[in-house]
Amino acid sequence: MRSQRRGSVSAAAVASEILVKSRNCYHAGMTQPNLFGLERAPLEGVLRELGEPTYRARQVYAWLYGKRARSFAEMTNLARDLRRRLDEAWDLRWPQVQERSLSYDGTRKYLFRLEDGATIESVYIPEESRRTICISTQAGCPLKCAFCLTGIAGYQRNLKTWEILGQVAAVMEEGPREPLPWNVVVMGMGEPLLNYEATVSALRVLMDPEGFAVAPKKLTLSTVGILPALEKLMHEPVRPNLAISLHAPNQALRRALMPIEEKYGLSDVMAAALRYPIPRGGLVTFEYVLLRGVNDAPAQARELVRLLGGHRVKVNLIPLNPARDIPFTAPAPEAVDAFCRILANAHITVSVRRPRGQDILAACGQLHLKRAELAPPAHP
Ligand code: SAH
Repeated sequence: MRSQRRGSVSAAAVASEILVKSRNCYHAGMTQPNLFGLERAPLEGVLRELGEPTYRARQVYAWLYGKRARSFAEMTNLARDLRRRLDEAWDLRWPQVQERSLSYDGTRKYLFRLEDGATIESVYIPEESRRTICISTQAGCPLKCAFCLTGIAGYQRNLKTWEILGQVAAVMEEGPREPLPWNVVVMGMGEPLLNYEATVSALRVLMDPEGFAVAPKKLTLSTVGILPALEKLMHEPVRPNLAISLHAPNQALRRALMPIEEKYGLSDVMAAALRYPIPRGGLVTFEYVLLRGVNDAPAQARELVRLLGGHRVKVNLIPLNPARDIPFTAPAPEAVDAFCRILANAHITVSVRRPRGQDILAACGQLHLKRAELAPPAHP
């Protein structure tokens, strides 16, 4: 595509230039700035500097996010000369897929290698009536919840907007073309509200009808409840659904499982979550990972009923996805059933998350690890 504008330059010279450029990209970090990831206002600034009117930015925006073009050459409603000038000053790149793993259940895990060598993972989950992309917002996670391997593996850094959006673009590109709706869940590696600006900027582009056009009710952000950021999120003009990682019916047990509880306590997190304006009058979700003998007893289910009863909430029970380094065991299926029934009998909307992609370590809390670390199944 680059050769189009270099009529007299030999193909070999162009090829070698591209090679040098791609080496620079991935090995020396000497890249041109990336246009992918810019929101409307900065994009308008870029085009203004190139002497173009504001509506051009809207056209480029639609190419970047609505059509997910891979090069400036594809942007055929822009003058050839503008495409050339964009190409000279800017890159258009998504994070590089380094590896894909396919689960027996159709779940696909993507490993992306970022330009500084950090690796992140995203998961594609096909279902009969919908398909879901689970994305990461940090390389690793600083929260160190006792049952989550991502935290055990450590923390590297916040992702940039383009690195978050690029996961969705890359996974959508390879998804089946059927006209099924896309769900996006911010439940991969990291705590999204510790990377507020980049995450919310990515969410705006995802939910924008001229961007990725994911309906707000089909986008869910999961958080432990970083309070100042949660307050800010409530006041954003467009918001995703909210899921709160609760995991215990009382403060003492939550503190034992989640160190962040010391900073943002259960009662404050609950109060904030209950004020959160869910899109289209939906319900806020409380996630509760079930750990055998730790938080899966009927008495704890009843305590959870006392905590949540009477509020407009739903509970998502997540039987632990086990791994060798996690010092907990998955709950017995009967314990999951009993726990679920106690909530349902108390008229709390409850669902049990079916594990997807466990065999490729793509299930919740399993991201960022190697196959050898998977524990033998708890219930053979
Ligand atoms: N940091 C955010 C989002 C990422 S985790 C948060 O904590 O909400 C998405 C969900 O998977 C969270 O509810 C998390 O607690 C849960 N999870 C973590 N490890 C798990 C494991 N080993 N098995 C099952 N669920 C797990």
